[in-house]
Amino acid sequence: MTETIFSKILSGETPADILFEDELAIAFRDITPQAPSHVLVIPRSPIQSIKHAGEEDCALLGHCLRVCAKVAEQEGIAEDGYRVVTNIGDHGGQTIFHLHFHVLGGRKMTWPPG
Ligand code: 5GP
Repeated sequence: MTETIFSKILSGETPADILFEDELAIAFRDITPQAPSHVLVIPRSPIQSIKHAGEEDCALLGHCLRVCAKVAEQEGIAEDGYRVVTNIGDHGGQTIFHLHFHVLGGRKMTWPPG
């Protein structure tokens, strides 16, 4: 996979406001927040999107979702509810091709997304 801004955050080359990290994943604040709390959860493994994840990645994907829930608790948005989104490819609106889950909260979300 080619280098992305997220691989640079993982290597420490690019700074980020990191809220959580373990051996499999990290969570940091989105640079352009779309909600009062907007955190990105990414695996350390360079998977482009869930489209590119295989059976061998199932545990890692589950772990990332668990990290999303932990971060939401840490951010104080869990009780009111929040949204977890992953964009895939062009029509999905993906701009950075390293798998990431947006955790958005602190305001009421609308549906359907635009
Ligand atoms: P996507 O559009 O691929 O689903 O989401 C990419 C997200 O990465 C966007 O919400 C964007 O604001 C965020 N982003 C882009 N560049 C940076 C950066 O350098 N640092 C951080 N923390 N977030 C970034």
